[in-house]
Amino acid sequence: MTIPFLSKVKLMKLSLYNIIIPYKKYLILYNTLWDSVVMCFRSDMTKWGIDDKLHLSLSNIDHRLVNTLKENKIILDDDINERNMVKNILEETNNVNDVLEFTIIPSLACNFSCWYCYENHNNKEHISQPEIKHIVLALEKIIKNKPEITTFKISFFGGEPLLFFKSVVVPLIEDIKKAQFNSSVFGAWLR
Ligand code: SF4
Repeated sequence: MTIPFLSKVKLMKLSLYNIIIPYKKYLILYNTLWDSVVMCFRSDMTKWGIDDKLHLSLSNIDHRLVNTLKENKIILDDDINERNMVKNILEETNNVNDVLEFTIIPSLACNFSCWYCYENHNNKEHISQPEIKHIVLALEKIIKNKPEITTFKISFFGGEPLLFFKSVVVPLIEDIKKAQFNSSVFGAWLR
């Protein structure tokens, strides 16, 4: 269904990289590409007319909300190709050859239940000892084949990485002595 109004105005569309999280009478719109967040009333969302190509009818939305959505890149002009933008960012990143950043997720398990979390935490699996060896071997191989790397960073992410501190994080740290470590944790292991 095409909305007639749309032919008279510049078309806008929703970003491909939005995650929409319902919260009480609100919707939290998080854009994973630009790390931006907008919170709006659900009732505003129901006013949005969206056609079969995800074009938006913005006629019913407060212009301040439209501007906020634009500024945070939750919505964007129809002629913008986000996939090409991501490809360009990746190419630029890949051309920076002297830094290797590696993110390891010991497990998706977590003993918190943040209201905004999209993980269900039912999966208690974690990286096994043989997998630790594989990771170390893979990193060694990458570093050996890329002598231009001067900075090597490992981040731990989750879930709550400290739940598997002794069984996963410590062995990895011990095996990769030269890395700079950076961990996203909430101290939950200490509870
Ligand atoms: S700490 Fe992270 S993984 Fe755990 S519930 Fe909160 S957001 Fe989810």
